Amino acid sequence: MAFELLSKHGDHEQVIYCHDKSVGLKAIIAIHNTALGPALGGTRMWNYKNEEEALIDVLRLSKGMTYKASAAGLNLGGGKAVIIGDSKTQKTEGLFRAFGQFVNTLNGKYITAEDVGTGEKDMEYIFMETQWVTGIPKDFGGSGDPSPYTAHGVLMGIKATAKEKLGTDSLKGVRIAVQGLGNVGTNLVKYLYEEGAKIIVADIDQVKVKHHREVYKAEVATPEDIVFTDCEIFAPCALGAVINDNTIQKLRCKAIAGGANNILAEARHGDHLRELGILYAPDYVVNAGGLMNVFVELEGYSPDRAFEKTRKVYDNVTKVFEIAKRDNIGTHTAADRMAEERIKTIGALKQRHQGKSSRAFTTLKEVYNR
Ligand code: NAD
Repeated sequence: MAFELLSKHGDHEQVIYCHDKSVGLKAIIAIHNTALGPALGGTRMWNYKNEEEALIDVLRLSKGMTYKASAAGLNLGGGKAVIIGDSKTQKTEGLFRAFGQFVNTLNGKYITAEDVGTGEKDMEYIFMETQWVTGIPKDFGGSGDPSPYTAHGVLMGIKATAKEKLGTDSLKGVRIAVQGLGNVGTNLVKYLYEEGAKIIVADIDQVKVKHHREVYKAEVATPEDIVFTDCEIFAPCALGAVINDNTIQKLRCKAIAGGANNILAEARHGDHLRELGILYAPDYVVNAGGLMNVFVELEGYSPDRAFEKTRKVYDNVTKVFEIAKRDNIGTHTAADRMAEERIKTIGALKQRHQGKSSRAFTTLKEVYNR
């Protein structure tokens, strides 16, 4: 069964089942592709209905990380891990240390980080057993909260989108609707305000809405209406699948660029946006600032360098638009093509000239320098 699912959900290099009865650990690590570098991706803790659901999720998420890292221009591959369990009630030191030991056996082929259901404290336990972990607390040389970096990358993605659609990347006076004022959305609004944009916001939390109306002079829309705001750019920063069969015909924006993952309910919605003349900046290219930030941890962390790195999102999004025009395809397909092309060319170069891709690493620095 597992092998059937493996062939159905991608061409993964390696999938590792981790089991430690003494601490109740049931986890799966999936390494999708290491052509560009070690597979980096967070560990999700989730109460999956069954093992099959957990396997499908880890296969899908790890493949997504390969594309995200490649499109970001990083020397990283794609991986992900899932721990089966309730993150509210079943977290223990032993669970994460046992998991860390499994990560350690992979000698740097997989590097873990936080994800849904795991946090800094859990990474600290993993770090007690292995160096192959990012997102550890700042006191341990980690990078802390990635959201300001993700948001800065999103700002860069919005600027590249404005340049393509409006002919200028100045956001002065440009109407931008931000859905969700959480970690990413709130940082984004601050950056947009500094750029002189006209901001429209919505959140289900009215305290956050009030704060943004007062501090950033934002217009307010209801959570139901923000998607349909008459604006130049719609920036989803809350939920996935906001562009779906129910919303797409009623959109009144000229372009979409935001921090949320999986903005399109299905790939066909990307084609539909193209038909409607709405420019879509692909989510995983736009929201890669957080990944760039943890990558900088591998070099020895510097906030300034991380911040600088997120500027690259502008070039990456611009390149996606170029490929879309070159090949006459939707931007969502162009992003995948850009990621695949880089894996093919740079991956082959690495293989030929360094021959290091399949050997084990001993230090994080070595991983970075590879
Ligand atoms: P968050 O949980 O801090 O914020 C989400 C916000 O959306 C909350 O304020 C919530 O109240 C609001 N919200 C929920 N439902 C809503 C609705 N129907 N309408 C309006 N607002 C609603 O999450 P975050 O860390 O800011 O992440 C936001 C999105 O960006 C997620 O899709 C996440 O996967 C993605 N993302 C985040 C990062 C990061 O660095 N945090 C990196 C990459 C991608």
